Amino acid sequence: MRRVAARYIAGETLPEALDRLADLARRGHPGIIDVLGEGISDEREARAVATNYTEAASAVASRRLDCYVSVKPTHVGLNISEDLAFELYARIAKHCQGLGLFLRVEMEDHPTTDGTLRVFERLRREHANVGIVLQSRLFRTIDDIDRLARGPLDVRMVKGIYLEPAAIAHTDPIRIREAYVQCVQKLVGRGAKLSLATHDEHLAESCIGILKAAGRATDSYEFQVLLGVREELWARWSAEGHRVRVYVPYGPDWRAYSLRRMKKNPQIVGHVMRKMFSFR
Ligand SMILES: Cc1cc2nc3c(=O)[nH]c(=O)nc-3n(C[C@H](O)[C@H](O)[C@H](O)COP(=O)(O)OP(=O)(O)OC[C@H]3O[C@@H](n4cnc5c(N)ncnc54)[C@H](O)[C@@H]3O)c2cc1C
Repeated sequence: MRRVAARYIAGETLPEALDRLADLARRGHPGIIDVLGEGISDEREARAVATNYTEAASAVASRRLDCYVSVKPTHVGLNISEDLAFELYARIAKHCQGLGLFLRVEMEDHPTTDGTLRVFERLRREHANVGIVLQSRLFRTIDDIDRLARGPLDVRMVKGIYLEPAAIAHTDPIRIREAYVQCVQKLVGRGAKLSLATHDEHLAESCIGILKAAGRATDSYEFQVLLGVREELWARWSAEGHRVRVYVPYGPDWRAYSLRRMKKNPQIVGHVMRKMFSFR
């Protein structure tokens, strides 16, 4: 499990994550830093997580890395209370603002969607350096785009990694992709800043078509990719003039993250087992 995780995770400590970010920067890729963890049910722990994030942000700024901070709502206490999550996000946002850094509110599984959007809307009123993640898998997302308050909006568009019930979400990969394109179309229409977080080159082509048709310059959007996933695509997109930002998770709490990644691509497990036991 740990060997599989090593592909997706920068390490257990902040210095390891910073080294990986510096390495990616040398290869022309800006980064996103994520402290692994989620589902915190103890307030003191949630407060300690927020401190980890402010320390990570300070370290990123002092190394002058082009990198922003990405935080899961239940890692800063959304399951305890929305007010706590708001307070801790606001603390991180303020700290990042002082350092000239951006903060992304991530999206988890559907029971947390309403709370996350409410926290994000509150944050957005007070902090200009905050963006959200939206998942095309959920039926609701296309309408959520209309429900978000007017004004500057920064969205990372994803398919959604959590397997959701068919009553509320697309389950067919083709429908998830179509919904992604529809969401991008709508977000471009309302002038949102966009991060296309995907490793699906066909989806990427459709999105680039929409952005080009809307006259969007290549510096008005970016691709975002996960550490360890489809590096050949990063190189291709970079060569075509697109910015490719890499998500760099780190921390001792790597098990849940790695399990989700392995479920997404079970072939990885076989690949690692073959290597470990020298199977051909
Ligand atoms: C920067 C970033 C941030 C994200 N943040 C969130 C978030 O906040 N909330 C959320 O729900 N989801 C998030 N995701 C995950 C996202 O929702 C998808 O689950 C994930 O990106 C896979 O979908 P895909 O668009 O790459 O398409 P897919 O069709 O799943 O994959 C396209 C191709 O990439 C390969 N691939 C995809 N994932 C892997 C992998 N792990 N290992 C090896 N190959 C792989 C596939 O085999 C396929 O060939 C994020 C993704 C990225 C890149």
